[in-house]
Amino acid sequence: MKTYDWIVVGGGIAGAALAYELAKTGFSVLLLEQYETPQNATRYSYGGLAYWSGTTPLTCLLCEEAIARYNILSQELDADIQFRELDLLLTISAANDPEATAESYNHFAIPPRLLSVQEACELEPLLNREAISGALTVKHGHIHPEKTAQAYIQAFLRAGGEMQITQVLQVLQDGVKTTTGTFHSANVAICAGGLSRQLLKSAGIPVKPIRFG
Ligand SMILES: Cc1cc2nc3c(=O)[nH]c(=O)nc-3n(C[C@H](O)[C@H](O)[C@H](O)COP(=O)(O)OP(=O)(O)OC[C@H]3O[C@@H](n4cnc5c(N)ncnc54)[C@H](O)[C@@H]3O)c2cc1C
Repeated sequence: MKTYDWIVVGGGIAGAALAYELAKTGFSVLLLEQYETPQNATRYSYGGLAYWSGTTPLTCLLCEEAIARYNILSQELDADIQFRELDLLLTISAANDPEATAESYNHFAIPPRLLSVQEACELEPLLNREAISGALTVKHGHIHPEKTAQAYIQAFLRAGGEMQITQVLQVLQDGVKTTTGTFHSANVAICAGGLSRQLLKSAGIPVKPIRFG
């Protein structure tokens, strides 16, 4: 049986993008997704790209690269991912000092611009001018997440990647066991979204709990 360089588990945006990038680099890749039409986080996502919000050297670099990447992605994948930039409006409550609020965003990769109440209402006429002391605005990226994942998968297949609809039951030392058979690979990438921890746990790989806040 064929041994792939990589098996990627999960056909959401993470798995689709990773499978594409690996195939583009020249690896043999098998992408496994459990559903023909996935009901995943990617499908229900709003598709907002907060690539202005990096706050560390690493996240700022990722933001910078994301802007460059999304600007050419439709062309590279040969499909319309509906990338566009929107004016995000972050209102500042009347009880808060607008200058101090704007300053608290100064360490962001692209600090939002401070707007007066008048300017904010011109941008969004339905705002209650009595309730705000100003607003912040910044260009916020937007894509169609499901179309982007599909575009990645189609480009992945064109690059020679293989895909099967099957559910991964177990991660093995040299591949994965699924509902339709066992597949072999040198590496396995788990991109199963909210189900990733369960799969990793079943393979005996400990995962630290994430703490927010
Ligand atoms: C309502 C909503 C709005 C959001 N808005 C935004 C936003 O504006 N901006 C933003 O950046 N993020 C947003 N997110 C978050 C974003 O959607 C997710 O972070 C992202 O889609 C996760 O992608 P993923 O590929 O990791 O997971 P998923 O999209 O969940 O894909 C995982 C895939 O793995 C498959 N899978 C799981 N287990 C197995 C198995 N055993 N075998 C085979 N396949 C398996 C699943 O079927 C699924 O297709 C939003 C999320 C939601 C729910």
